[in-house]
Amino acid sequence: MTYQDGCVYLGKGNRRASISDELVERIYHRLEKNIQDSTPALSEVGSIIKNVDVQGNLNCYRLDDKYYFFSGPDKVLRAYIEKATVSARSVKTKLSKQMLENIGRALRAAGTDVELSDQDGRIVVEYARAIHAVHKIVSKIIKDNTEALAWSCDAWGVTEDVKRRLLSIPSNELTSGNKWEYAYVIARCVMDTESDGVKIKNMEPARAADLLFERIWRALKSTEGWDDFISEKTSTYREEITAYIHETLSVNGTISGSSGSDLSDPYREYQRGGSGRICNLCNSGTLLRQDEMKLPITVSMLKFNFSNRIFAGKTKPDNIYACVPCGVELVLRQNGCEIPRGPVRIR
Ligand SMILES: [Zn+2]
Repeated sequence: MTYQDGCVYLGKGNRRASISDELVERIYHRLEKNIQDSTPALSEVGSIIKNVDVQGNLNCYRLDDKYYFFSGPDKVLRAYIEKATVSARSVKTKLSKQMLENIGRALRAAGTDVELSDQDGRIVVEYARAIHAVHKIVSKIIKDNTEALAWSCDAWGVTEDVKRRLLSIPSNELTSGNKWEYAYVIARCVMDTESDGVKIKNMEPARAADLLFERIWRALKSTEGWDDFISEKTSTYREEITAYIHETLSVNGTISGSSGSDLSDPYREYQRGGSGRICNLCNSGTLLRQDEMKLPITVSMLKFNFSNRIFAGKTKPDNIYACVPCGVELVLRQNGCEIPRGPVRIR
């Protein structure tokens, strides 16, 4: 209805709302959803994929945990899978000798066909990176290695025969360092899986991703412990933003006092010297450690808007320290005003 002096006033006809923990929780979930839908950088898989990377020589994709909050777990999974199906088609670099050896060893151990064309080799590598990424998630939920391997075999549709052989291989044979080479065998099976008479490896990347996503998403959601896993991944955001809503939301003049949060106490932090766990932007306490609060000025967009909240006499700092709600706002501002590359760039 109105915005005045930093407050937003809302109304809903004649309905009288009243404040409660349940209302705050509903507002949090709506906020989370709105953030996930707010900008293509967070909602479109094509954009998220650009931030999926392969760490060194590891046969695994990686996406920062913050995407569980900013984009949602379904988009995280979809990004891994689509990265695989798109890269399998587009990446043309030859596989290194080392990679070929690793793949060969895994396929021989499982007794599957070792002969692969260059193109098939690339498909195995990219699919395996997605399969490993999903397995890493699952192995956090299912602690027993054998059970987690069986989960991956079932979810990706490995034949009973190959699954039995994989389960019988001594566990140290296909795991070295952080590598998990079972993924090559599973990838080999996945690419030849047929749907409507077409092998997955021959499908358009988006269609292959649709099929695989649907299968794996269903399997993850029905795994006991999945909800707890996701809840833990986003807990810092949930707890701190919920505490923020409790503190700032007033319904008909009533504020619901936060029921004992673990946020740092700004007064106590000041007493300790004033440079502790206090947000530079809003002076609130936080759940974050100080090193987690750090945002480079260039990332935070504050280079355009030097804060007047930094103590007088200080030179412009390289970093600011932000609480969770302020950090979230900065991410949204950054994504909301990204100037497109190319000829339209403003100079
Ligand atoms: Zn703040």
